[in-house]
Amino acid sequence: MSNCIFCKIINKEIPSTIVYEDDEVLAFNDINPQAPIHILIIPKKHISDMTEVTEEDIGLIGKIHLAAVKIAKQKGFAEKGFRLVNNCKADGGQIVFHLHYHLMAGKKLPVCT
Ligand code: AMP
Ligand code: ZN
Repeated sequence: MSNCIFCKIINKEIPSTIVYEDDEVLAFNDINPQAPIHILIIPKKHISDMTEVTEEDIGLIGKIHLAAVKIAKQKGFAEKGFRLVNNCKADGGQIVFHLHYHLMAGKKLPVCT
């Protein structure tokens, strides 16, 4: 998607601080962190939001979860824990319409409402 900011990050057209990358998944620091560690994990395939995930993406979604755990172990917060969040569409608070998961850690996070 030529006008998608996260596709531009994938294509290295705009800068980001990458913390994990493989053939299908990219993870980079959120530009406006809401926790001491706040990383975004995205599929390299452009999927606009969670409602657009299909059966063929099941493996890809699993790889995103595994990437979260790899990052947590590598950065040393797997033991203490973390939060993995997807915001879907307007009522979910989604602003960027390329599927992404917020990986947050580094403090005791407030209970979700
Ligand atoms: P959401 O509200 O779930 O769509 O979250 C979008 C997230 O993308 C926000 O936490 C933003 O801070 C983050 N974000 C937007 N632009 C960038 C960027 N260029 N690099 C890193 N994070 C970004
Ligand atoms: Zn995109």
